[in-house]
Amino acid sequence: PINCEPLKELVRTVPDFPKPGILFYDITTLLKDKTGFAEMIDALAAHYLDRDVDLVLGIEARGFIFGPALAYRLNAGFVPVRKPRKLPAPTARVTYDLEYGTDTLEIHLDAIEPGQNVVLVDDLLATGGTMEATVKLVQQLGGHIAGLGFAVELDFLKGRDKFPDYDVFSLLHYS
Ligand code: IMP
Repeated sequence: PINCEPLKELVRTVPDFPKPGILFYDITTLLKDKTGFAEMIDALAAHYLDRDVDLVLGIEARGFIFGPALAYRLNAGFVPVRKPRKLPAPTARVTYDLEYGTDTLEIHLDAIEPGQNVVLVDDLLATGGTMEATVKLVQQLGGHIAGLGFAVELDFLKGRDKFPDYDVFSLLHYS
């Protein structure tokens, strides 16, 4: 396996963003590094190469950065999961709880054929609420979940505990 540990030096932490008391893990500093970005996509692709993936599904907005690059490497299609009222054709939607309030995500009803093998990706796994909602969308459409992939995982928030039935794979871990 590719050793991604050096890539951690390219992730910037920003205190008090977006709110006081929150330490934000900023991946833009990793994305703009030409070897860093390629190594990250290669390492993700290596994990899924033998899994016969049909579709990579990316969550708006930062899942749109990793998802298409990964899909290209896997010879898979790309499916966007979007914030409400962005997708033009009929959708399935799911509303989930945030710390304060709720959020909604949508997917086109015809985005996944039943039984298609799907990898779900986002930039970062925190509490897992966003990915949990996306898993529900894929289940509604009858997709088979081949794995949940992230660039960064905040281990101390135990987000992966929400997905005992799935392969959860993250490149960089913070504890
Ligand atoms: P969760 O739903 O609590 O797992 O939060 C994950 C979602 O929030 C992902 O879509 C991330 O893009 C975003 N997010 C949460 N914390 C951070 C962070 O520190 N850096 C970048 N994105 C974050």
